[in-house]
Amino acid sequence: LITVEGVNKHFGAHHVLKDVSTTFRAGEVTVILGASGSGKSTLLRMLNRLETHDSGRILVDGIEVNDDTRQLEKLRAEVGMVFQQFNLFPHLTVLENVALAPRRVRGLSRAEAEARATELITRVGLADHIHKHPFQLSGGQQQRVAIARSLAMQPKVLLFDEPTSALDPEMVKEVLDVMKQLARSGMTMLVVTHEMGFAREVADRVLFIDQGRIAADAPPDVFFGRQDNERVRAFLGRIL
Ligand code: ATP
Ligand code: MG
Repeated sequence: LITVEGVNKHFGAHHVLKDVSTTFRAGEVTVILGASGSGKSTLLRMLNRLETHDSGRILVDGIEVNDDTRQLEKLRAEVGMVFQQFNLFPHLTVLENVALAPRRVRGLSRAEAEARATELITRVGLADHIHKHPFQLSGGQQQRVAIARSLAMQPKVLLFDEPTSALDPEMVKEVLDVMKQLARSGMTMLVVTHEMGFAREVADRVLFIDQGRIAADAPPDVFFGRQDNERVRAFLGRIL
């Protein structure tokens, strides 16, 4: 579904991603690990053009990721993203937050958009909160709204950048549970997270990025098993 070919990224003199090549298949759940500053967010953000790449090629579902704006609109509709900060619209209700983009971008009628939104809000367990505003919800609930909002665009792939890092510990599980359910439903997911339990249990594959390079790429049982990569061992030693 996604092909990344020889991609490089610099911020000024800083070479942040170095000749990164990989592919992500439809239905695959990939967890991306790596130290702070290794380039994880930059890699995700390049996939929906929140960040440009300097060289190499990125293809998402046949769409070349570049400056062509018509392509960009299509790309953004296909690649959803969930951030650490939920970025909900504070003045809109849960229902309005989820229904907005399908109306504006997909051109759905209000009734259609709200019907789809209601179904998704129910799926993330928030049917009772549909008319509340974000400030009336917990962090975990807000993040589940953010996931429902991404799903409302019917993306082919969902990118998660540390979706539980801003949450109080007791709210992490409810968000991970929604993500697990999504993974089981066959959604293609790329997840930057420090939740190793999620990686072990849900990921098809773990990518480890070290100083802008893919330093390991393996199924979780192999990755967390007898790891012969010194840098990976050091990283896991720090976080486990
Ligand atoms: P973290 O785990 O802390 O989120 P990360 O692996 O997501 O780290 P990135 O955010 O991709 O790391 O950043 C990689 C490097 O690029 C870092 O050194 C960062 O300071 C730098 N960087 C990221 N965005 C920018 C930017 N817009 N301008 C300049 N430098 C940037
Ligand atoms: Mg990051």
